[in-house]
Amino acid sequence: MTLSLYDTLHREKRVFSPRDPSRVTLYVCGPTVYDYAHIGNARPPVVFDVLVRLLRREYGADSVIYARNVTDVDDKINAKAAREGVPIGEVTARYEAAYLADMGLLNVSAPDLAPHVTDHIEAIVAQIAAIVDQGCGYVAEGHVLFDVSSYPAYGALSGRNLDDMIAGARVEVAPYKRNAHDFVLWKPSKEGEPSWPSPWGEGRPGWHIECSAMIEAELGLPIDIHGGGIDLVFPHHENEIAQGVCAHGHAHAATAPAEYSRYWMHNGFLTVDAEKMSKSIGNVLLLHDLVQAMPGEVVRWALLSAHYRQPLDWNQSLLDQSRKNLDRLYGALRRAEGVEALGDMPSPEFLEAIEDDLNTPGAMSKLFALSSEIERAMTAGDTRAVGIAKAELIASGAILGVLQSTPDQWFEGGADDTLKTEVEALLAERIEARAAKNWAEADRIRDRLTALNVVVMDGPTGATWRLKE
Ligand code: AMP
Ligand code: ZN
Repeated sequence: MTLSLYDTLHREKRVFSPRDPSRVTLYVCGPTVYDYAHIGNARPPVVFDVLVRLLRREYGADSVIYARNVTDVDDKINAKAAREGVPIGEVTARYEAAYLADMGLLNVSAPDLAPHVTDHIEAIVAQIAAIVDQGCGYVAEGHVLFDVSSYPAYGALSGRNLDDMIAGARVEVAPYKRNAHDFVLWKPSKEGEPSWPSPWGEGRPGWHIECSAMIEAELGLPIDIHGGGIDLVFPHHENEIAQGVCAHGHAHAATAPAEYSRYWMHNGFLTVDAEKMSKSIGNVLLLHDLVQAMPGEVVRWALLSAHYRQPLDWNQSLLDQSRKNLDRLYGALRRAEGVEALGDMPSPEFLEAIEDDLNTPGAMSKLFALSSEIERAMTAGDTRAVGIAKAELIASGAILGVLQSTPDQWFEGGADDTLKTEVEALLAERIEARAAKNWAEADRIRDRLTALNVVVMDGPTGATWRLKE
């Protein structure tokens, strides 16, 4: 296989080759657990889940280590806990559990490691101390700051030049900073806020240091792939690199950024009805609500329907189309239900598309080619061809994380057992009515099914049904 990935640092697609094929490491910046995640926050975990599925297929499930952190120390968490009058752990446990449940509904596989900031304070303090020892950090008024002027490659990932940044800086700069772009590694906690001991006094870590410290502690440097949303390129990932390399005295190495992560991947942003999601516009869609309102598979398909680096607009027609596309693919699987799948390999055309920097729209079009092949071969009575196409469709779907239910589960999804029993009984009565050529009765039954929000589809092997949206 030749997997190529667009690397934000090198600004080009590069053939992926891990440092050690028996230990491929990947880190994706995860959620800050102070509230329900919005649908944009679901794009990175779904996109990188596809990458992880692909890597596991190539290198073996046990040879890939995927870490997605949980940010459980943050100002927004403190504010929420204070409002509710509960410890921060209560807030973070609640929203982490909701996040994981919603990820499950999106069929996102659990990461191998889910490091929490509160479990890594020692590692964080140790990395800050190393940065200070290397002369790349300084202490001022109870804060520890990273000195960006100590690291010549600062700006390499985002393509920013420190001199231009300094010239353009208009933000009000805290008086204890030597340079406007110096950023916080450690800061004192306010009265009543959670704090931990450190050589610089009681306090808490800044945001950027958590990821570089947990990457070093959990995965070791350099990692193979670091991922996240495009908004994290600057300053978050730029600062991670600065911390990760300077803690080890590599500030002046020309290769410095690659000594932290060998490949950098970033997903584009999701908009809603062509607008940025924002509380003031009132168009923030919560993942938690969406996966209650429709099958997680529809949400997942919609999230993967644009190439991950492109913007993705979330709107009703995207959801309608996603459902229709899945109907078509599950429809083909249902036609082929009586035929045994032959094999467990994705189609070569599918692999070629997905290995080309995760070209999911291209890969999806190969799924449609397989469903057409099933329809063609069914009509031609070519059972062997049906079996091969069916196997390829299911195995290709597994890499996208879709098509893993049975056609019945898909089409009848959302119906509870009482409803299922009632619908099956009505369908049986309808068959009898039709056999007796009692059309009035058959129509009456169809009306009752319609009243139950059920659509009946007559096919060559009998009637099937599904719930209307
Ligand atoms: P946050 O909780 O804001 O740190 O975001 C968690 C992840 O979601 C990060 O990787 C962000 O880059 C990503 N993200 C946030 N908003 C969006 C959006 N509208 N579209 C795509 N990704 C997003
Ligand atoms: Zn991070």
